[in-house]
Amino acid sequence: MPRELRRSGLRYYICEVCGFAYLERAQARACEEFCTRYHGCSIDITQHAVEVPKSRRGRRVKHG
Ligand SMILES: [Zn+2]
Repeated sequence: MPRELRRSGLRYYICEVCGFAYLERAQARACEEFCTRYHGCSIDITQHAVEVPKSRRGRRVKHG
């Protein structure tokens, strides 16, 4: 099940396999199913991914 995350009044759904975030739970589920089955992401799905705003607590987010 995609992880749910609230940030800045918005709700994000995170694919637990690849970590991409989506605004639609259905997209996150589709991503997770694809990632689990094929051990990689589908560009058709990840193009809908959004960036989660950083929290204001100063937690570092690793880029790369
Ligand atoms: Zn994924």
